Amino acid sequence: MLLRILTLGFLLSISFPYAQEDYGRLRQDMVNTQLKTRDIYQKTTLDAMLKVPRHIFVPDNVKPYAYTDGPLSIGEGQTISQPYIVAFMTQALKLNRNSRVLEVGTGSGYQAAVLGEIVDSVFTIEIVEPLGKRARKTLQKLGYSNVVVRIGDGYHGWEEKSPFDAIMVTAGAEKVPEPLLEQLKDGGKMIIPVGPHRGIRQLVLLEKKGDRIKRRNMMAVRFVPFVRPED
Ligand code: SAH
Repeated sequence: MLLRILTLGFLLSISFPYAQEDYGRLRQDMVNTQLKTRDIYQKTTLDAMLKVPRHIFVPDNVKPYAYTDGPLSIGEGQTISQPYIVAFMTQALKLNRNSRVLEVGTGSGYQAAVLGEIVDSVFTIEIVEPLGKRARKTLQKLGYSNVVVRIGDGYHGWEEKSPFDAIMVTAGAEKVPEPLLEQLKDGGKMIIPVGPHRGIRQLVLLEKKGDRIKRRNMMAVRFVPFVRPED
């Protein structure tokens, strides 16, 4: 009998690994141990990371790992970046309340939600339809009415909503898509992983200054590839 109770308890703990308040504690730990101990100091970014429920954006099988220090599979062969990378890319764009941001690579919608906590409006594009639809639902459920998801190829950006104060590309490109640079405001910033297909890429921060583009390599990263419809 005792064994049966123990077995039942064990099985329950597998299927319901954490209660809501536990997720809150795990999120707090994530901010303290993975972000503040590294180089994430911007208050708006830390506050957003503390607020957005990352576990809601990931599939059930990886929920228990939602706040661990690494990337996670979100289905369709795609991944959600490590929390530190999400925070790093967000912080690098130096956003404010009035910013209008374009994200290419919606994935789960998590990064878009983090941006949505900080800025006025987020436009995000996802090429894999089931992912885009799921992200749109999750964002709606959580009340992110300032985040708009479009399904399609993000290479061409989102002309009608341009120009943007900031652009974030969350898939690894071989080179910077020209149309995205064109849709950036003067003084605007873009962050994008650039490098060889499936290799180590550089997270590049670009800043548009008149007709010049300032370019700075921030760190080496791995990202799922930026794909084109003809690939
Ligand atoms: N930012 C996401 C993770 C992105 S993973 C999150 O927070 O969960 C990269 C995503 O970019 C994948 O979902 C992939 O399907 C998408 N992607 C790849 N190439 C794309 C393209 N050309 N246009 C739009 N999305 C693209």
